[in-house]
Amino acid sequence: LVYPVDPKHQHQYRNHEQQQTPSIRVMTWNILAQALGEGKDGFVQCPLDALNWAERKYLILEEILTYRPDILCLQEVDHYYDTFQPILASLGYHSTFLPKPWSPCLDVASNNGPDGCALFYRRARFSLLHTSHLRLSAMMLPTNQVAIVQTLRCRETGQRLCVAVTHLKARSGWERLRGAQGADLLQSLKAITSRAAGSDPVSRGPGGGSGTEGVPLIVCGDFNAEPSEDVYKRFIASPLGLDSAYKLLSADGQTEPAYTTWKIRPSGESCSTLDYIWYSHGAFTVDTLLDIPTEEQIGPDRLPSYHYPSDHLSLLCDVSFREPRDQPH
Ligand code: NDP
Ligand code: CA
Repeated sequence: LVYPVDPKHQHQYRNHEQQQTPSIRVMTWNILAQALGEGKDGFVQCPLDALNWAERKYLILEEILTYRPDILCLQEVDHYYDTFQPILASLGYHSTFLPKPWSPCLDVASNNGPDGCALFYRRARFSLLHTSHLRLSAMMLPTNQVAIVQTLRCRETGQRLCVAVTHLKARSGWERLRGAQGADLLQSLKAITSRAAGSDPVSRGPGGGSGTEGVPLIVCGDFNAEPSEDVYKRFIASPLGLDSAYKLLSADGQTEPAYTTWKIRPSGESCSTLDYIWYSHGAFTVDTLLDIPTEEQIGPDRLPSYHYPSDHLSLLCDVSFREPRDQPH
């Protein structure tokens, strides 16, 4: 597997196990809502020019098209209908969009509509079995955060998988809300993945889900939570058997990257790990991960910049279904 050369990234982690079926390339990225970047975020070291949508959109598209993911999970999308949906449709992607109920973009003058999550997959690789648009709850109360969950069927092998994208509540002081949103999402994912497995007699063989287990799952998003937070711990400990792909970039395989977002606001510099790709570790192996750019590559003014169009970095990995004999017990 060879990536096109991209000066911004190198790939570092590779699992050299023999592959039976082609891997699935997954990308997640908080692309920075245009209205928030220009009107709310206060990135004091980023020239306003670097946020100009007419140019910034090409940097975002260039990064996506460099890697051509099979599954693309975007957050803070406020140019879905006029940009990402039509352009990616012409390149073979199916997509769905779920705006936040009260997007903060709507407070910005000359906004382009609400921001939300968008989920894209390559039509050539998958057919769609089911879509759920979720408004996340916390302690039974609806919140302003959403998730999309889709059940896909691999056209080549018939294997099923569920894919989810979310963007949890931001800011410090909201840790308990994020924890509750995560719990709500996990509960929905459990129901959706078991339903998808139960309704599929073909996938009840080894590796396809036993009917009591669920369909293999990938959950992507901006969790707005460091690995020390409750919501991260809930995901690690959940009965869904999830693990975080980017830990495999570290020397010990147990440590998340030092950052997935890095920005300077009037309140100071903020460098944190908030974005994750979760995968069912009983069902998938992670074959390749796109490296995180170094501090030098990011530069002293941090993100966004003329080179990096968002304050968040994109995460990208290739996963493969485990062969039945490789499944851990
Ligand atoms: P969040 O708190 O989750 O954050 C919204 C966005 O702000 C995120 O994209 C987040 O980015 C970004 N952000 C995070 N930290 C900062 C910061 N320090 N400075 C500037 N931006 C930051 O939003 P909510 O969904 O809870 O919505 C909050 C806003 O939505 C309110 O301030 C209000 O404007 C609006 N609202 C309006 C309502 C109404 O009735 N009209 C009701 C509810 C909300 P990232 O995820 O990348 O960190
Ligand atoms: Ca943001």
